[in-house]
Amino acid sequence: MCGIAGIFNVSDSETLVAELLFSIQHRGQESCGLAARNERGNIFCYKGMGLVKNVLTEEILKKYSGNIAIGHVRYPTAGKSDETNSQPHVIELPEGPHLAICSNGDIINYYELRTWLENDYGFTFKSDNDGELIGRLIAFYLLHKKLSIEDSIIEAQKQLKGAFSSILIYRDKMFGFRDPHGYRPYVIGTLDDEADLNGEIPSEGIVLASESCAFGIVGARMIREMRPGEIIRLEKGKPMTTVAVNAGKTQHCVFELIYFSRPDTKVFGEKVYDVRKKIGAQLADYDKNMGFGDDTVVMAVPDSSNFVALGYAQSAKLSFDMGLLRNHYVGRTFTKPDQKQRDEGVRHKFNPLPDFFEGKKVVLVDDSIVRGTTLRKITRMLRNAGAKEIHIRIGSPKVIGSCYYGIDTPTRNELIAAVKSHDEICEYLGADSLKHIEIADFGKILHKFEDFCFACFNLEYQYKPEDYHQKVNRPDAK
Ligand code: AMP
Repeated sequence: MCGIAGIFNVSDSETLVAELLFSIQHRGQESCGLAARNERGNIFCYKGMGLVKNVLTEEILKKYSGNIAIGHVRYPTAGKSDETNSQPHVIELPEGPHLAICSNGDIINYYELRTWLENDYGFTFKSDNDGELIGRLIAFYLLHKKLSIEDSIIEAQKQLKGAFSSILIYRDKMFGFRDPHGYRPYVIGTLDDEADLNGEIPSEGIVLASESCAFGIVGARMIREMRPGEIIRLEKGKPMTTVAVNAGKTQHCVFELIYFSRPDTKVFGEKVYDVRKKIGAQLADYDKNMGFGDDTVVMAVPDSSNFVALGYAQSAKLSFDMGLLRNHYVGRTFTKPDQKQRDEGVRHKFNPLPDFFEGKKVVLVDDSIVRGTTLRKITRMLRNAGAKEIHIRIGSPKVIGSCYYGIDTPTRNELIAAVKSHDEICEYLGADSLKHIEIADFGKILHKFEDFCFACFNLEYQYKPEDYHQKVNRPDAK
């Protein structure tokens, strides 16, 4: 998973992009970077491993200033976690380094397209990253087919399979484009207070970002979401223009609403916090006959399930409390390479309040179970702290398949729900009971249920199995 941001034609755009990236830092903490183009036509790119505040410092931002800028935060799903795989990528064209790109999402036919460009057209790749492939594919149409930049993006968009929410700088223009299914989020805003959001919107001051929660930090207003398959062009002195819309069946990632996006984001026509509270209410509905009462406390595994637990407690009229503290200085435990490190990470991350759990029935709410590491550890912690009963409620259906569109999910045999029965999972976690929300009940929660991808929960993937085979077998696959 990753986050993207871009700003068109305002002074200090690089500083604004760094701020946007900071507010979508939750989308990727491994590395970050930005590319800025100045009025003289030079593109500068700076990237590094680590968090936005540590990499894109004031000193760096002074050196890399420009009026058009794009940026990226990375959470690796394919390709190694190193600086070469960080984004943006600058693609050097014969007339100068005039193309910079960043993208969020995984390309399923990455390897096929890369090999074709390398073997048949002598392209050289500097990284294993999907964003670079998209940039080089566009460069192929520009250089070898002599197409305009607009047509080059259209052709590349047709050839790419998978998920991409992308921003491109080409000469003095900026383009935003998205895969035909709209897998990953993508929003458009403006810094222009005067812009009439229903009429023509000037390109100057347009802000592109993965999530609308980024707009507040730079004082931007939301215009709308990028449409699935849409390509927009931003050009000095001209309005923002839709160049083309090459839409397929909409397949928004429901896991963005369940876990990934920030609760203050509006995306896929939904308010994230609202969806999470409704998930909680639905879980509470399953428990009407559980006899939970005054001795029961509803608790979240902080922070991703806070709103689900709150929704549960409000709907069930039970007390909501915060019995678990989370140490925010512990990095991602989920991506650690072996089980011992993941177990340790959970122990470092969470701690129960003293004398809180003695004799209590706990409804413990989490957003998802993947390998089962987090909840197994927490359940033990709460038992040791005196909890009488622990009832685990999960704000997602059972994760039974890997994601090929940009969420980091382990292979199928590591997914606990793919290899164990319901009762076995409950026993493994050490819980008194376990319930997940059912896929069908999202029909009551989402405005357009049919527009969402549930592939990691129902294995109904958009592309054919052989397409995934390629992705899984790409040499850099984890
Ligand atoms: P696990 O401990 O393996 O069962 O993973 C579930 C926990 O990891 C939940 O608490 C989630 O908040 C979190 N999680 C789920 N999916 C992801 C993901 N793709 N990347 C990082 N964390 C995740």
